[in-house]
Amino acid sequence: MSVDAKKAHNFIESLIEDQIRDGKHTGKVVTRFPPEPNGYLHIGHAKSICLNFGIAETFQGECNLRFDDTNPEKESQEYIDAICKDVQWLGFQWQGEIRYASDYFDDLYNFAVELIEQGKAYVCALSAEEMTAYRGTLTEPGRNSPDRDRPVAENLQMFSDMKDGKYQSGELVLRAKIDMASPNMNMRDPILYRIRYAEHHQTGNKWCIYPMYDFTHPISDAMEGITHSLCTLEFEDHRPLYDWVLDNISAPCQPVQTEFSRLNLNYTVTSKRKLKRLVDEGFVDGWDDPRMPTISGMRRRGYTPESVRAFCDMVGVNRASGTVDVGMLEFAVREDLNARAPRAMCVLRPLKVTLENYPQGQQETLTLPVHPQNPDMGTREVPWTRTLFIDREDFVEEAPRKWKRLATGQAVRLRGGYVITCREVVKDASGEIVELKCEYDANTLGVNPEGYKANGVIHWVSASDSVAADVNLYDRLFNHEFPDSDKDGDLLDHINPESLKRLTGVRVEKSLAQPRQDLPYQFEREGYFFFDAQASASANGRPVFNRTVTLRDSWSKAKS
Ligand code: ATP
Ligand code: MG
Repeated sequence: MSVDAKKAHNFIESLIEDQIRDGKHTGKVVTRFPPEPNGYLHIGHAKSICLNFGIAETFQGECNLRFDDTNPEKESQEYIDAICKDVQWLGFQWQGEIRYASDYFDDLYNFAVELIEQGKAYVCALSAEEMTAYRGTLTEPGRNSPDRDRPVAENLQMFSDMKDGKYQSGELVLRAKIDMASPNMNMRDPILYRIRYAEHHQTGNKWCIYPMYDFTHPISDAMEGITHSLCTLEFEDHRPLYDWVLDNISAPCQPVQTEFSRLNLNYTVTSKRKLKRLVDEGFVDGWDDPRMPTISGMRRRGYTPESVRAFCDMVGVNRASGTVDVGMLEFAVREDLNARAPRAMCVLRPLKVTLENYPQGQQETLTLPVHPQNPDMGTREVPWTRTLFIDREDFVEEAPRKWKRLATGQAVRLRGGYVITCREVVKDASGEIVELKCEYDANTLGVNPEGYKANGVIHWVSASDSVAADVNLYDRLFNHEFPDSDKDGDLLDHINPESLKRLTGVRVEKSLAQPRQDLPYQFEREGYFFFDAQASASANGRPVFNRTVTLRDSWSKAKS
C-alpha cells in the first residue's frame, strides 16, 4: 500500500506519514498498549487502545499488548484477564503473545548493571524524606546525595546484594546519576530500582527489587522493537529521561515517545485508583457495574464496541487538554443502536386494559417489523388479546391540550395493532386507577379509523401473553460535572443518589422470553435496553434488562 493511499486519522498518523515519506521511518510501524494491571480499563483507555491498534492497522504494522507490571502489590491476574477481554471486545487483537514488563526483569537488571559500570547509576541510602529534601524544588536546584560518588565496585556489590535480599524493604535504592540541578525534576537522579518484598503475579518470589516505570518503560519498548511509543501528556516531562535511558544503555533500538492528551469526560472519573474506591467502598456493584465508565461496565450496560470506537474517533487525538461532554458518548451509542437495535415493546409501569368488545378467549397474532427501516432484520410475532397492558404514564383521565396518548373518551393507536377508545376508568378503594375498560375498532389494523381520529401511538403488551421482567434504569453516577475536582470536596459526595432505579413487575413482549445477548433492544418510546444475563441468573427466572441510554438526551434539560 502506498503512503498516499492511506488516510491519516489524527496528528500522530500524519506525523508517521511524514516520517515515511521523508525516509525517516523505514520498516514496520510497531506500537503497544501498555496498561498497568491495577484495575479494570476505562473509557480513557479505550482512546489509547483505538489509537495504538488503529495506527498499527493504518500502517499495516503491529501492536503489542504489554502489561506494565512493576508494582506487584497493586496488581493481579484478575485485572490482567479483564484487560485482555476488554481489548478483544473492542475488536482488537495484539500481535503474538501477551507481553509483560516482567518478562524483561533479567534484561532490566543487566542494563542497570551496565549503567553502574559506566558510573551512571549508584546505590543511595537516603531515606524517602531525605530524598525529598535533597531533591530541591521547581525554583531551587537539588543537592547531590552523599552516596553519589560511591565507587563503581561498591555499587555493583550493593546492587547485587539488594537483589539477593540482603537489605530491608526501602533501605536502599538504585538511582541514575544525571543532574541534580536540572530544571526538569525527573532528571534529578531518578530512582531506577527499589526494594520490595512482594510476591509478583508473574515472577513469584524471584525478585525483591523492582524497577521503576521510567526505567522499565523505555527498555520494554526497545526490547519489543516498538517504533512509536505513545503516551499521555503527563509523560511529556518524562521524555528526556526516556531518551536518557535508551541513550545510555546498549539498547536494541530507539523508540520515540510521542504524547497526546488524555480523555477526560464530565460527570465521570477516569482513574483506576478512583474507580477502585467506588468498588471497594461498595458504591457500585463491582467494576462492571453498568454505571461505571469501565469498558466492562459499558459492555454490561449495552454499549457496543462499534459505538465506543466511533466515540473515540469523534473525540480525536490531539494535544489540547479539555473535557469532553459525556453526552457525546451517549450520542455515539444512540447513533449505533438506532441503526442496529431490534425493536420490541416493554411496559415499564403496567396498567390493565380490557377490550370489552373483543371476544373472551380470542387471540390473534400481529406481525411487526424487527426494525422499521431495515426489512432484512425480519419480523416478530406479537399476540393481541382481550386484556392488554399499557404504561400508566400513557393515560390521563382528562387530556390536556395536544395530548398524544390515551384519555377517557379518547382514542389512541396501539403500535402495530388497532385503535382503542377508553370508555371507563376503574379505581380501587384508595382511588388508584387499576383498569381501563376500552373498546377496540376492528377496522383499524393498518388503516385510519373512519369518522374520528386517534391521538397518537403508544406501546403495549398482551397481559396474558407477555413476560414479566425487571428493569434497571441507570442515570449518571455523579451529579457533579467534575466529581473529582478536589476543590469541591470528596468524589463520594457527588454520587447521584438516583443513579439506579430498579423496576420490578415490568412486562415485555413475548419474543423477549429468550432475549438476544448480542445487542440491546430499542424498547419503543422508552430507550435502549440490554439483557443482563448475570443479573437475570438471580431474578427468579425473570429476565433483567439494563437501560443502556434513553432515546433522547433528557439530562441537560431535566437537571440543569
Ligand atoms: P489510571 O490513572 O486510570 O490508572 P494510567 O494512565 O495510570 O491511568 P495505565 O494502565 O498506565 O493507566 O494506562 C495504559 C495506557 O492508557 C497508557 O498509555 C495511558 O497513557 C493510557 N491512558 C490512561 N488513561 C487515559 C485517558 N484518560 N485518556 C487516554 N489515554 C489514557
Ligand atoms: Mg498508572
